[in-house]
Amino acid sequence: MAHLLPQLPYAYDALEPYIDAKTMEIHHSKHHQTYTDKFNAALEKHPELFEKAPEALLKDLSQVPEDIRQVVINHGGGYVNHNLFWEMLRPGQENNTPSGALLEAINKHFTSFENFKTAFTLEASSKFGSGWTWLCKKENGDLVIISTSNQDSPLSQGLTPIMAIDIWEHAYYLKHQNRRPEYIENWWKVANWSKAEELRAQA
Ligand code: MN
Repeated sequence: MAHLLPQLPYAYDALEPYIDAKTMEIHHSKHHQTYTDKFNAALEKHPELFEKAPEALLKDLSQVPEDIRQVVINHGGGYVNHNLFWEMLRPGQENNTPSGALLEAINKHFTSFENFKTAFTLEASSKFGSGWTWLCKKENGDLVIISTSNQDSPLSQGLTPIMAIDIWEHAYYLKHQNRRPEYIENWWKVANWSKAEELRAQA
């Protein structure tokens, strides 16, 4: 069974004015669709891999035959990263912060949410080129901020993604043009901390 482009859990315009409807539509229906199609096309060469969860392939790339490994890293990564990204967003609010156990974990590892926000923003704004900035949970339970290039997944480094911002220009160019810091500032209004806590608790 080919992997399918998931439906968004909200309408394309649900994240306005922070992320505009046209960007969401193109990002989901064109970019994410393309990653999905190219991932499926690669797996057609080794159809037994359709049986495995895409996340499992990214966690252990040694089980992916060499002739399609880089395509799986790029397009399997793009497929899984965007599946997560849509769920890590929610309709915006001015004062959007984590609470409960997630806030406690952030305070423990980064002193305060404000410190975490500063560090994450700096990482996302200074990452050179296309990629992602992530909040991840390590196997020992620690939280870390990392960036990855292209569509590389933290799963391939043994990390579990908790929160992510897509910093490819396709994620913001229509509204924010070259102003990545402005996009990042808006992204904080729509980060889905409930989903992040769910992922942190499961990991
Ligand atoms: Mn993207």
